[in-house]
Amino acid sequence: MTEQKISLSDLPLREELRGKSAYGAPQLHAANQLNTNENPYPPSQEIVEGIARRVAELGQQLNRYPDRDAVGLRAALAAYVSEQTGVGVTKEQVWAANGSNEVLQQLLQAFGGPGRSAMGFVPSYSMHPILAAGTQTEFISVERKGEDRFAINVDEALAAIAEHAPDVVFITTPNNPTGNITPLADIERILQAAPGIVIVDEAYAEFSDEPSAVGLLEDYPTKLVVSRTMSKAFDFAGGRLGYFVADAAFIEAVMLVRLPYHLATLSQAAAEVALEHSAATLQTVAKLREERDRVVAELRELGFDVIDSHSNFVFFGNFDKLGDAPTVWQRFLDREVLIRDVGVPGWLRATVGLPEENDAFLAAAAQMMDD
Ligand code: PMP
Repeated sequence: MTEQKISLSDLPLREELRGKSAYGAPQLHAANQLNTNENPYPPSQEIVEGIARRVAELGQQLNRYPDRDAVGLRAALAAYVSEQTGVGVTKEQVWAANGSNEVLQQLLQAFGGPGRSAMGFVPSYSMHPILAAGTQTEFISVERKGEDRFAINVDEALAAIAEHAPDVVFITTPNNPTGNITPLADIERILQAAPGIVIVDEAYAEFSDEPSAVGLLEDYPTKLVVSRTMSKAFDFAGGRLGYFVADAAFIEAVMLVRLPYHLATLSQAAAEVALEHSAATLQTVAKLREERDRVVAELRELGFDVIDSHSNFVFFGNFDKLGDAPTVWQRFLDREVLIRDVGVPGWLRATVGLPEENDAFLAAAAQMMDD
């Protein structure tokens, strides 16, 4: 057989995927990994041992398919959400999947699709348009031009909604990559105007003091979906567990599109164990918030411009004398600090890590300013 190198362009790929590149932060290695907004604290020994015990028990049942509707896990998530938000929700209102990315994809499969559109306020989470493309949903970007930088200008949002009548509206709060929040009152104005569904992406909710949009579900049962994840505050990104909270009818909707047995027995069990220890796990959130505030203050002292962060990362700029964002990103990497260039000119995003990682990041920033 002749060795022939086949490239992507040789394949009969769908037209709209041609020329696109796959999502992904570069998985480079650096001593300080501050690029993917993970929680730097590993799960506790209790969680690790609890998972090991469950895996040993469940190993014998892996010839069987998982609980298709993940009822036990959804009950545990409902209890957690009720406690964390102060709003009582039931397992019938909670849906779980492999990361909130899968949750969002299922929602777009059910509510987007050919001939339908989704609107987002940019810059925001880059997977929203990618998931839209994958489900053939037109994506409409509206710039964040609020008075506070990178805030949603609600009047402009309402005008765009009136003009385009999107089937899906995404609001990410706290927003990735900018770290700021959208107040509940603004979310409510958008909910009132939206003709379709509104997905509030609360991946970083636990790092913020703003009340969760879950509190609005009672008033907007046919429109509102709140998506969340165990990847950030829960230090469980490798467990791949995301969920949404909405009226029970939305769960029926995603059941029409989800793959059968989408959530593995081991994923369900590991997440259940992690949820049993949520109170201890969330103690790391308090530490990270303190570190975040320290990083923001020190960056400002060094002369950087920093957006107020309600999350576990900081968005900073004002690199005038340092070069453009890709140059500054490289200069951090040269100092063993891997952060993220999200493609917003003049701005970079750094995840809040362990105190010593944050020290390394701040020392690199200070050195650069001195050079
Ligand atoms: N939403 C937002 C705003 C995010 O930043 C992320 C992760 N970067 C996700 C959703 C997806 O997270 P996961 O699939 O790990 O739950």
